[in-house]
Amino acid sequence: MTFESLGLSKPILKAIAEKGYTEPSPIQEKAIPVVLEEKDVLASAQTGTGKTAGFVLPIIEMLTWAESRGRNRKIRALVLTPTRELAAQIYENAREYSKYVDFRTAVIFGGVKQRPQEATLRQGVDLLVATPGRLLDLESQGILSLRNIEILVLDEADRMLDMGFKRDIDKIMAMLPKKRQSLLFSATFSKEIKRLAQNTLNKPILIEATPENTTVEKINQKVYYVDKNAKPKVLIKLIQEGDWKQILVFTRTKHGANKLTKLLIAADISASAIHGNKTQNNRIKALKEFKAGDIKVLVATDIAARGLDIPLLPHVVNFELPNIPEDYVHRIGRTGRAGAKGEAISLVEHEEKDYLRNIQNLIEETLDSATIEGFEPQVNSGPTKPKAKQQGQRGGRPSGNRPKSSSSGNRNKYGNRSNSGGGNR
Ligand code: AMP
Repeated sequence: MTFESLGLSKPILKAIAEKGYTEPSPIQEKAIPVVLEEKDVLASAQTGTGKTAGFVLPIIEMLTWAESRGRNRKIRALVLTPTRELAAQIYENAREYSKYVDFRTAVIFGGVKQRPQEATLRQGVDLLVATPGRLLDLESQGILSLRNIEILVLDEADRMLDMGFKRDIDKIMAMLPKKRQSLLFSATFSKEIKRLAQNTLNKPILIEATPENTTVEKINQKVYYVDKNAKPKVLIKLIQEGDWKQILVFTRTKHGANKLTKLLIAADISASAIHGNKTQNNRIKALKEFKAGDIKVLVATDIAARGLDIPLLPHVVNFELPNIPEDYVHRIGRTGRAGAKGEAISLVEHEEKDYLRNIQNLIEETLDSATIEGFEPQVNSGPTKPKAKQQGQRGGRPSGNRPKSSSSGNRNKYGNRSNSGGGNR
């Protein structure tokens, strides 16, 4: 299959060729023709599948068919994304793919000054990439209008709901014309996503794509049982003794990310943290340095890492396990890309055993586990089996110390996330 056969025109094909893409990815193969037929789409796809080009390319194609150009151009396509990073990446991609056509893309997100965004919008925009909060801000100030939207994309819709954007999305929906084309991309399909899809999409075509090189099978997953206070030392040992070059490390909190970054730097390992408290410029700089190999370790929280375009990643470390099992899959999906063998290591302390159990239940697999010589846990921390009952023995752990969200075995992903709201991640 070639990009030519998908119905894209020459200037777009030229830009794709310059990006070095030789053939469409499976999701692009499936999505591009359907979007070009102006059908609604419900796509199951996560980062790494090439999903961005799957919707951006046909949008550029369709919107350049029309005549009206110049400063009076109206915003005709809207891509909503959960995070600034993802918004910035989609924007960059759209700019590259449209470099040989008369097409304007803009991006707006919070955390940076509003003025430059206003100025860009005044120039006239065809495609707007936005996070929900800033979009609503600018709309309420009359700086932009959503009345002319013909195509809506909800990208990483599951994550938008997880981050508490449900009400914002509903508000935005109410501002859009009823007659429009809508595309919804999500890595997971909870009841909430299905409901959102029902309310948003009109007879959608279902499209599924798993990341080509990020299948869990290709990833060497391992658990090391270790006490909480020994985790930094263990990580440092693994990095130094394994001579690891590029490592993405996940912590649960912003504070944890900062603290660990300092400890790594103190051990002479170059590191940077990215999380919600960092300025946009800081995050972009850190990611750039990480990609260039100037820093070895990127310490990230789940939300900050979501949607990051990191093409090749040999090592992912869960310094702390996520309390949401699906996040584990998202995290480790960042290794093993491009055919390379990936390694995903989780440092698990006894307080996290319930998290581990929930993760193993989700992936239906018992992860290989071991201890590290010299760092054997002193606190009770035996292996944990999937599907184990959660009642009864807790290894003498005082109940007040349990991980908050794991006290019941029937946790619901979204019910659990609704109070987290991303605030501490
Ligand atoms: P995405 O899933 O949209 O975040 O894309 C993941 C990565 O794949 C990005 O670095 C894209 O530039 C790259 N990519 C997208 N489509 C293709 C393609 N057809 N061939 C090679 N790389 C691609």
